[in-house]
Amino acid sequence: MDVIFFGPPGAGKGTQAKIIEDKYGLKQLSTGDMLREEVNAKTDLGIEAKKQMDAGALVPDDVVIGMIANRIDSRECAKGVIFDGFPRTVAQAEALADMLAKRGRKINLVLSLQVEDSALVKRIEQRAIQEGRSDDTVETFKKRLDAYRDYAAKVLPHYNAQAIVKPVDGMRDIADVTEQIEKILKQGSSDSSPACAMG
Ligand code: AMP
Repeated sequence: MDVIFFGPPGAGKGTQAKIIEDKYGLKQLSTGDMLREEVNAKTDLGIEAKKQMDAGALVPDDVVIGMIANRIDSRECAKGVIFDGFPRTVAQAEALADMLAKRGRKINLVLSLQVEDSALVKRIEQRAIQEGRSDDTVETFKKRLDAYRDYAAKVLPHYNAQAIVKPVDGMRDIADVTEQIEKILKQGSSDSSPACAMG
């Protein structure tokens, strides 16, 4: 099963992905984490990407698509992937669909984590203290939230057209959010997806 965790910065995508991946044998692929690894290792890609990341802007499509393509065939991804923070553009969504289709796979579900802005700000402030991410400042956060609204308005309708977007109330505590996600995943795996079957 291949799923996307979709939501604004601070929605809990990474936290939930880490809980779910072990339970379901799925592999979390976070383009944000991969980019931060490149930044920390001071690779050319990382040095270039840091500029966009610190500005709260998106890095170019070919960069993130390439990172996903490099990992999709790893053994850990064979049972399915939790895409975390990817795709963020329709071009990325289309590239992902192509990549999966070539392997006889498709995105089965898009879990859309919904959290109010005021709660996101608090979580980001907390994460800034815990993780020291250079883009977790109030100013950059506002830009990332604007970027999110912009790309969500394009990417979600793309998946809505396939009737695979499921809302998750991300305001609840971590265990409760996990429970909601598991319910949807269980339904998704037993569901014959009539909308998809009918094309
Ligand atoms: P995240 O950890 O997912 O919030 O990502 C941190 C930053 O990495 C974002 O603000 C973007 O600058 C960049 N980034 C992560 N994933 C993508 C993506 N799929 N497309 C473009 N930029 C991305």
